[in-house]
Amino acid sequence: MEIITAVRGFKDILPPETDKWRHIEETAHKVFCVFGFREIRIPLLEKTELFCRGIGESTDIVEKEMYTFLDRGEESLTLRPEATASVIRAYLEHNLHAAESVTKLYTIGPMFRRERPQKGRYRQFHQIDAEILGPDDPRTDAELILMLLHFLEKLGLRKLTLEINSLGCAACRPAFREAILSFLRGREEELCGDCRRRLVTNPLRVFDCKVETCAAIISQAPLLPDFLCAGCRDHFEKVQASLRLFDIPFKLNAKMVRGLDYYTRTTFEVTTEFLGAQNAVVGGGRYDHLVRDLGGPDISGIGFAIGIERLAAMIPEADADALLPGPLLFIATLGEAALEKAFFLCNGLRMKGIHVEMDHAGRSLKSQMKRADKLKSAYTLILGEREITENKALLRNMLSSTQTEVGLDSLEETITELAR
Ligand code: ATP
Ligand code: MG
Repeated sequence: MEIITAVRGFKDILPPETDKWRHIEETAHKVFCVFGFREIRIPLLEKTELFCRGIGESTDIVEKEMYTFLDRGEESLTLRPEATASVIRAYLEHNLHAAESVTKLYTIGPMFRRERPQKGRYRQFHQIDAEILGPDDPRTDAELILMLLHFLEKLGLRKLTLEINSLGCAACRPAFREAILSFLRGREEELCGDCRRRLVTNPLRVFDCKVETCAAIISQAPLLPDFLCAGCRDHFEKVQASLRLFDIPFKLNAKMVRGLDYYTRTTFEVTTEFLGAQNAVVGGGRYDHLVRDLGGPDISGIGFAIGIERLAAMIPEADADALLPGPLLFIATLGEAALEKAFFLCNGLRMKGIHVEMDHAGRSLKSQMKRADKLKSAYTLILGEREITENKALLRNMLSSTQTEVGLDSLEETITELAR
């Protein structure tokens, strides 16, 4: 019979890759907590309307990438394509804004987008998402970016580029929209089908088009930063000043509009030269009207989303190897009595929190030692009939190849001492 395989674009994460993922997630928990964030866990499934209203009807995500279905023909539901809309839905539903004027939340989990699967692009992928709700001052933007880069640095990632832009606000963006429209008018013929449609729905989206001819046209287009109002310009300059305070290098990218409609003012991306075409590791930005658009009070927010698959791909295998040490002890056995004794010792030590391995199959001593080597066990203990009778055995340090005699009754103390 043929085996059943996973759905296209949906990927298993296997060990040792999972060790990397755990390391990434644990680092996020640690770093984000120090910066005052609390974890939130939200459902994978939401009412479709949340994303249409939140992300915007004319975005690629809502137009073509969502997994949407009618639940028993009654209600339209969607597997979440991103986390921000859900975080805000929960924030409003549970009145978190009433409790505190600043709410810092983060969440880690899968997102779903029906894109063309390729290296670094999947249909189920995972994000670490952080959001600050409440303050709209430029220091908050800088603090969030600082935390993000600190986190990436903790993971040992290098050669990252931070790009920032300002998308302006409701006061200044309409003028830019007009300018870009009049620039593109008359050039419709040269644009791709999607972009021709975008002229009507959301001309800013043309900046996000990956088609070469569109990119060539847009390279001549007027730029958003030239249209910023005084308030937005001042905000953006202060964000940059705060980044400089921490010596954070950044590049201004006037063409970065990001793929979601809710962004206002500061937007940013972290890219790397390591990942080829799929080079964006993090995307984020400020959203000063999203909370209101989702039915809440006038509260500002800013957040980012890190792609875990792309992040994990940047951590070299060698580094990942070092993340998970082998067992502290491997017990090799000769004979049934030794096997029974090892079984008892091995599980007793595990319950004390010590990682011990053994072989249950009664294989040759040589193949057991090979396995101890492969597992990178720090110590081995060989138990045979004589060792059982004398109730002591030789403990071998695999690195230095030195041996010491230990009494089997004091194995726990000896190993605990070594584990320190
Ligand atoms: P891209 O331009 O690569 O499509 P995006 O702008 O759509 O990225 P965001 O919505 O900003 O991505 O999501 C933040 C991060 O999530 C991205 O920088 C990337 O690391 C990751 N990501 C987004 N879509 C996918 C996907 N389909 N597969 C894997 N990772 C993804
Ligand atoms: Mg995308």
